[in-house]
Amino acid sequence: MSRKKELLSLMNIDVSWLNDDVIGKNIFCFEDLKLDADNCQKCILAKTRNKVVFGKGNNNSKILIIGEAPGKEEDLTAEPFVGRAGKLLTEILLSIKLTRDDVYITNTVKCRPPENRNPSNEEIKSCASYLDQQIELISPKVIILLGKVAAERILNSSEPMASLRQKIHSYKNTNIPTLVFYHPAYLLRSPNEKRKVWEDLIFMRENINVS
Ligand code: SF4
Repeated sequence: MSRKKELLSLMNIDVSWLNDDVIGKNIFCFEDLKLDADNCQKCILAKTRNKVVFGKGNNNSKILIIGEAPGKEEDLTAEPFVGRAGKLLTEILLSIKLTRDDVYITNTVKCRPPENRNPSNEEIKSCASYLDQQIELISPKVIILLGKVAAERILNSSEPMASLRQKIHSYKNTNIPTLVFYHPAYLLRSPNEKRKVWEDLIFMRENINVS
């Protein structure tokens, strides 16, 4: 058995169906990175979290969705975007014939900030290496940033949402097209804005080839 297979078995990952050729960098490094995050103590959020919410979905997906931070229900289930905002995100995806298994969903920080406050710059910075490595490993064809916190973190921009959406940005110095959408939690608070997400989906379909 190869070293990689051995390590995956130690992590209780079923490797019986894998041959060594298909145990690529992605599978190995992703599980490794998740294990690292699950035990992370790099910032004060480690003291108050219940569970680390690393991310969920298809880690070979062409679409990576990044939100702000886990909330109460995410913290209890270790899954990103559950609850009402998560349900709305699922509906948005279904409207373009995607399920949550077709995309990968994560957040700028992997642990819940108490009382659902915004993550601090220090916390975002401490957690940055996890998100950066997830982006590198997934190597998506498009990144969708949900809300201002994610937009600020990835685009390093403090421009208002209204001027960030409906534009194609880039992730760092890569050519990965990056779009900004309103956060589903904001859309729940401001139902009149919901139509803007449909405009953003049309913008994505017309400008980005994710096939
Ligand atoms: S938020 Fe990120 S850096 Fe902070 S403890 Fe959780 S995983 Fe570690």
